[in-house]
Amino acid sequence: MTRFQKLELSPAYDSHVHLRDGTMMETVIPTIRQGGVDTVYVMPNLVPPITTVAAAVAYRERLQALAPDVKFLMTLYLDKSITPATIAEAARAGIAGVKVYPAGVTTNSEAGVLDYQSYYPVFEAMQEHDLVLNLHGEVPSTSAHDVGTAADGDVVTVLNAEPKFLPTLRKLHADFPRLRIVLEHCTTKEALDAVRACGPTVAGGITAHHLFIDISDVCGDAFNFCKPVAKTPVDRVALLKAIVDESGKFFFGTDSAPHPIEAKKGGKKPAAGCFTQGWATQLVVDAVEEGIANGWLPEDISVETLDEFLSGRGRRFYKLPPASQNGRKIVLDRKGEKIPEALRSKDGSIEVVPFRRGEETYSLTWKS
Ligand SMILES: [Zn+2]
Repeated sequence: MTRFQKLELSPAYDSHVHLRDGTMMETVIPTIRQGGVDTVYVMPNLVPPITTVAAAVAYRERLQALAPDVKFLMTLYLDKSITPATIAEAARAGIAGVKVYPAGVTTNSEAGVLDYQSYYPVFEAMQEHDLVLNLHGEVPSTSAHDVGTAADGDVVTVLNAEPKFLPTLRKLHADFPRLRIVLEHCTTKEALDAVRACGPTVAGGITAHHLFIDISDVCGDAFNFCKPVAKTPVDRVALLKAIVDESGKFFFGTDSAPHPIEAKKGGKKPAAGCFTQGWATQLVVDAVEEGIANGWLPEDISVETLDEFLSGRGRRFYKLPPASQNGRKIVLDRKGEKIPEALRSKDGSIEVVPFRRGEETYSLTWKS
């Protein structure tokens, strides 16, 4: 396999992370820098979700106290309590965006779109205050009750939930052309094409784990199960190619989502989410090498191209200063290091199983 051997990169910007709270937060926080990341965009789906500016600011303070050398960007969880006044307050508090979850909308796609329209005053305020709209781009699956009456093409499963969402992306972009929108964790070629077809205010996030797996890898391994689920091998290759895409519309967001091992294995249904935080940068470089070895990506991918995907484009979209400003670098080296089988909390009460556990990866060090 082609190896970069030793690489020096800018610190990465991870534009989609789940850091949780309490003991899980304390366990996961040190893995941000282990993964070569100095700036993260923190998802708001705590229990209860972060729906107020005060809660977001307090959460940011809890995170910052644990990791003074990481920059945390915050986003609110969109629900009915959020008004244009909340958006103005969020902008003043330095909150960067608002996240939309499909679980917050009704159970079928048509009503979902109607529901988006009820948030138009909020989106208008976001456009004015220059906040980012983060979309979980899936529509809910058709319920067993409705399958009998729905036309075949209208039945939604986890496999077509993302393409079915794309008309909503197009409509939001058409109605709010100045609103910066990120289609988070793209998993299909259709989604990439939809983002490419939009104007410069629309971008797409790409995770590390979707660069490695397709749907067959999800079946039978709960630790590969995430939402949106990985799709076909064709989609996987399209995601890898998006890293080197000339459109410059795709950037890194791990969607790293730690769950206690019991939540992934114990219940009837595994929790959705792959934990990649501690190997964020390393995994992307591993995936690119695999892409080169398989002939999917050109052999001459440069350090600049990797830097752009991992750091440059995302920072520019979020209007952050370039990574070069603080002069820090990360160094990746092949030393035979393996991703561990588990990450444990200090008190041993929580065990998280990383994505690609047991696989070889790069060793990463910080150079300041
Ligand atoms: Zn997520």
